[in-house]
Amino acid sequence: EPVDWPARDLLTHRAATTPERTALVAADGGGERSYRDLDAAVDSVAAAFEAATDGEDGPIAALVDTRPAVAQLLHAAMRTGRTFAPLNVELAPETLRAQLEALDADLLVCERETEPLAADVADCPVASVDEPTGGVAAQLEGTAPEWDLAPVELSRDHTAVILFTSGTTSEPKGVRLTLGNLVASATASAFRLGTLPGDRWLVSLPTYHMGGLAPFVRSALYGTAVVVQREFTPDATARAMDEHGVTGVSLVPTMCKRLVDAGWVPSDALRVVLLGGGPAAPELVERCLDRGIPVCPTYGMTETASQIATALPETAGEHRDTVGQPLVSTTVTVLADGDPAGPHQRGELVVSGPTVTPGYLDEEATAAAFSEWGFHTGDLGYRDEDGRLWVVGRVDDRIVTGGENVAAGAVASAIRALDGVEDAAVVGLPDEEWGQRVAALVVGATDPETVRDHCRAELAPHEVPKTVRVVDELPRTPSGTVDRDAVRRLLRT
Ligand code: ATP
Ligand code: MG
Repeated sequence: EPVDWPARDLLTHRAATTPERTALVAADGGGERSYRDLDAAVDSVAAAFEAATDGEDGPIAALVDTRPAVAQLLHAAMRTGRTFAPLNVELAPETLRAQLEALDADLLVCERETEPLAADVADCPVASVDEPTGGVAAQLEGTAPEWDLAPVELSRDHTAVILFTSGTTSEPKGVRLTLGNLVASATASAFRLGTLPGDRWLVSLPTYHMGGLAPFVRSALYGTAVVVQREFTPDATARAMDEHGVTGVSLVPTMCKRLVDAGWVPSDALRVVLLGGGPAAPELVERCLDRGIPVCPTYGMTETASQIATALPETAGEHRDTVGQPLVSTTVTVLADGDPAGPHQRGELVVSGPTVTPGYLDEEATAAAFSEWGFHTGDLGYRDEDGRLWVVGRVDDRIVTGGENVAAGAVASAIRALDGVEDAAVVGLPDEEWGQRVAALVVGATDPETVRDHCRAELAPHEVPKTVRVVDELPRTPSGTVDRDAVRRLLRT
């Protein structure tokens, strides 16, 4: 085991061993913080939690977007034996109210920008990280009295974090992640990507999703730094990577594409570009590799505390559309009609191992998601003889047209490969003759007939979209994933 159980919070261990190392860098001119400084700030925030909650130890919810203070909230929650539950600041008030109720939070932490929203949705005390009028804020400024409580002992099963899924397939679900899940994920990630004492990981993704939060956990375990940049723009982000000697960065495909389109040339320091959150076009991976961008396509999700499988540039050779092999100690079973499938046979990806959540906040959802094989991801994929994984799409995206099965994700991938196409979403629309018909919403400099011609050349006849519409952008959920209901509505009008 990487740490003893029961253990104290991860930061206590880190600050005791390498206090001088840099923990946090604010990319936009906010300076740096050592692990010693972070540790002291976390003590104060922990004390603020105790005071603001009257000692109640329910979850600490937060409406705080990507910024260094997120590290303080995460570690202070852990230090006091609480659960940290960052909420999506883009969600509608009624959704946030439902999430706070499901969490039974004892404190909602906000920031300047989310103060009105927090006041609107909270059914518990609210504290701001920006207002120096007391609460958590004063503690963050270091003006609060010293904390005099001993860090609580945590077991491996302690729920350290609750994160809500992106809500692509239904309402966002609250996922419980234990300290054991987080440590297992960070450990397995290091075994795949490697970790060096001087690593600096850029976070420009929302920290209320797994991809943005995970680097804070990993860096505290590794003793490395997180460079935090709130606003992603190709120019500012490329500059921040150079200025701060960034060695690793997490990007979703649209961010990566914007960087590459803007002519981004990475510095020699950069050794990992973790590319995930959704399907990455093989052409994008190819363009990255051609330019010496160390792209690592990855497949992960909230329920597995981020990475399930990750490919490395050194092995990307002939396999540019794979997400690579599962991480050490993660097992992926491909289930086709209830039985494990062989190589190249498609089925639902089912995951087991120490990174897998013990369950959702909602017990019924938990019962529906687990079987003897493990956690059912709802994703469709296959693997090759060497265990490399391919993610084809979501199980629910299966379109049945004229009695034939079509994987919407596979059709979308084929369309994305067409010159000039930037993105595509494929859905099934009700059809009198076919039951469902394949329909595609396409973004890019192309036209419906070109798309259909390309599909006729690349796909089976029943996979060729009968309806194609070219638009300026795909409708998205507040989390940035494609809103499939909205896609259907657009294609039906
Ligand atoms: P919800 O569970 O609420 O419907 P969501 O599944 O989009 O939302 P996340 O946990 O943020 O919420 O996203 C995980 C999902 O993202 C995966 O299940 C998968 O469908 C998709 N995904 C992640 N990485 C990849 C990838 N490399 N290729 C294809 N799909 C990916
Ligand atoms: Mg999901």
